Parts: sequence; structure tokens; C-alpha cells
Amino acid sequence: MSENSPKVSMILLGPPGSGKGTQAEKLKSYFEIPHISTGDMLREALRDGTELGLKAAGFMRSGKLVPDELVVELVGERLGKDDCSKGFILDGFPRNIFQAEGLEKIFGSSEEMVFSAVSLDVDEDIIVNRLSSRRVCEGCGAVYNTKLNPPKDDLRCDRCGGKIVQREDDREVTIRKRLQVYRDETSPIKEFYREKGILREVPGDGDVEEVFERILGALGDDRC
Ligand code: AMP
Repeated sequence: MSENSPKVSMILLGPPGSGKGTQAEKLKSYFEIPHISTGDMLREALRDGTELGLKAAGFMRSGKLVPDELVVELVGERLGKDDCSKGFILDGFPRNIFQAEGLEKIFGSSEEMVFSAVSLDVDEDIIVNRLSSRRVCEGCGAVYNTKLNPPKDDLRCDRCGGKIVQREDDREVTIRKRLQVYRDETSPIKEFYREKGILREVPGDGDVEEVFERILGALGDDRC
């Protein structure tokens, strides 16, 4: 996109495993705006053993939400960085109404508040299937799927040779818990954004390119 491209900011909503992370990476390259994933930021804090990481660890391992104040502060700091001036993609935040209101407070002025809320909708059984076969590289974060896209060597990353692991919260019992948390706490924010007229609902089934084109269409972008 060119220097004079308009500001594009969006929130990606959707249950864990709906493909938000994958689509966010594509949107990041397409619009040249940062992909801000609170899950990634929290996992990094956990790996680095920071104070935030220590506070978040127990909640994350059991599939619960990390306390809102911690996450709102984290996002507020991140959105204040220069690279967000042309827009951003929020992935995994807000997760409930408190956080959605927190986001409004971060911006304050209505001019800065212009964004779309894109909701990726995928059936829960498909999600459980997808997530329980997901594996990630401990080193570079590359994502694999044991059925669709396995690494050449089961234990090592094709890209960096790092160790391939299953995220602790990708085990079936935790996935079910995370989906329940999504239903109970996150679904209501769809209504919050629907009422504001900025909700864009996109079916999240099908292949990655197909879903990407649907998102661009929903954003009113005709370059796809
Ligand atoms: P994710 O990678 O987005 O599925 O997030 C993994 C875990 O990080 C979640 O199950 C929560 O424990 C925590 N987390 C991520 N984003 C948030 C958020 N916005 N609010 C609270 N907890 C979060």
C-alpha cells in the first residue's frame, strides 16, 4: 500500500482457533500495519519471566482470562508506539466488555476511535479439531498442524530447527474451557460493536485465502 494509504484499524474477534492469528499476519503485510496479539505478548512475558508474565501464568495455563487491568495497560502501552500511527490489527483483545470500554478510554477522542470489528465465525467442533492438532515452534513461533501441515521432522522446526511443542492450552480439555470463556465473555462484545455499526461478520471456514478475501470484502476494500 502507498505512503498516502488511509489509516486502517481493526479488531479481530472470533473464538480461539478461528484463524485470527493467521489472518492477522496476512492483513499486516497487506496494509503494512502492526499485528498486536495480546496472547503473543503475554506468552513472551511468560517466557521472559517478567512481572507481568508471572502474574499471568496461572490464568493462561488453565485457559482463564488474565485480569483485565493488566491487559488493558499492556495494550495501552503498545498502541502508544509510533508504528500504530497508521493503524493496527488487534487480535485477542478486547475479550470482554470491560476491555472494550478500556479500549475506548485509551483513545479518548472519537477521531482516533475509527475501526472495524471483524468477527470470524467458525463451528466449535471444527475448532477443537484444528487446535488439538496445532503445534508450535518454541524458538520462532512457526505454527504447524499435525494433519494438514506437519513439520518435516516431528520434533524440529523446518524454519529454525527449534523444538516443536503443543501449547499447554491447546489440549482438548483446556480448549473446551477457552471456548466456554469465549461464549460467556467475548461473544457479548459482538453486540457491543454491532450496536456501534462497526461489526463485520465473516464466515471463517474454508481455506486461508478464501477467508482473507472475505475479510477484505467486509472491510470494503476492493483491491482483492
Ligand atoms: P490467545 O493466544 O489469544 O488464545 O490467548 C492465550 C491466553 O492468553 C488466553 O487463554 C488468556 O489466558 C490470555 N489472554 C490473551 N489475550 C487476553 C485478553 N485480552 N484478556 C485476558 N487474557 C488474555
